[in-house]
Amino acid sequence: MKNCDLCDIMNNIHTTLHGMYLEEKDPFIIVDCNTCYVPMVVFVNHNEPSAQGLQKAIEVAEENFPDKRVDLKRRKIPNHPHFHLR
Ligand SMILES: [Zn+2]
Ligand SMILES: [Zn+2]
Repeated sequence: MKNCDLCDIMNNIHTTLHGMYLEEKDPFIIVDCNTCYVPMVVFVNHNEPSAQGLQKAIEVAEENFPDKRVDLKRRKIPNHPHFHLR
């Protein structure tokens, strides 16, 4: 199986971790994206998050970064659910 850049980020202790949110079904973390230098929400699993999971992640992200907005487009890594805050 090919390495996944986002899984690497989650395993990289040098990545700035803003918070880890262990929701029952859709755990996610907020880290700094090391290519865009903006905060990024990354779901811990490759499964698509539930609608509630996604909603919760957006809520938490906007609470943490009220001056940014959620960018739901996935450009480089479409198969690992995540979104940037720009
Ligand atoms: Zn991954
Ligand atoms: Zn990025």
